Amino acid sequence: MRRWWGRSALSAAACLAAAGMLPGAAFAFSCDEADRTIELAAGQNVGGAAPGFADLGLRDREVVLTFDDGPDPRTTPVILDILRKACVPATFFVLGGQVADHLDLVKRELAEGHTLGGHSTRHVDLTQEPFEVAVRDIAEGFRPLKSAGVDANLFRFPLLRTTPELLAWVNANGLAAVAADIDPRDWAGDAPAQTLARLKDQLEEKGGGIILLHDNQPNTVRLLPDLLAFLSREGYSVVRLAGASAERQIASGEAR
Ligand SMILES: [Zn+2]
Repeated sequence: MRRWWGRSALSAAACLAAAGMLPGAAFAFSCDEADRTIELAAGQNVGGAAPGFADLGLRDREVVLTFDDGPDPRTTPVILDILRKACVPATFFVLGGQVADHLDLVKRELAEGHTLGGHSTRHVDLTQEPFEVAVRDIAEGFRPLKSAGVDANLFRFPLLRTTPELLAWVNANGLAAVAADIDPRDWAGDAPAQTLARLKDQLEEKGGGIILLHDNQPNTVRLLPDLLAFLSREGYSVVRLAGASAERQIASGEAR
């Protein structure tokens, strides 16, 4: 019996061995510790403070790690290596075209116990598009995932921008929308240390939350080991986010 087959593949010994490959890397997260999972059903929109979105219900010193805009063959494999060594789960909000081009990375994300969500096709501000164009963009973004047998039901609006009408459509189509509580703007091109300082400031102010990062950013690769070490040192737990259909998502990942 295993909830997360990716996790069962990550024995403590395997994690220690992997960590040993990186001298100086020290993470206190345990591979054996049962991490907390929060499952979102369709219509349950979480994160941020926009109308229609509720608090995820994280406890003090709990975070959710999310990575947008991938998968990217230059950076996503390194992000996955770092997460695996730290035994930390994340949610990847992927772009339709990137999925179609890099299906191997999507399979790896699933195989290693991460959660997949959609993030549209063109990554434009959907609030500026005609409604029919916007919803087609959202639906088409999920198509490569569906074709690969991945039944994702989490969605993040590009640029975190939505309207009540788009949110209602997303929910009526079986999706839960995930915004973010902590946005260090890792895409802005600042030095990793500067981005990390911004992130820590927000974390300390809020005591936890949904962290927004981007797995296509080289600077994010550079700051991630330090971020995970910081979270571990400061007693934060990383909570797993899951769509209500996560079991099916995992099963389809396992089949390949
Ligand atoms: Zn994005």
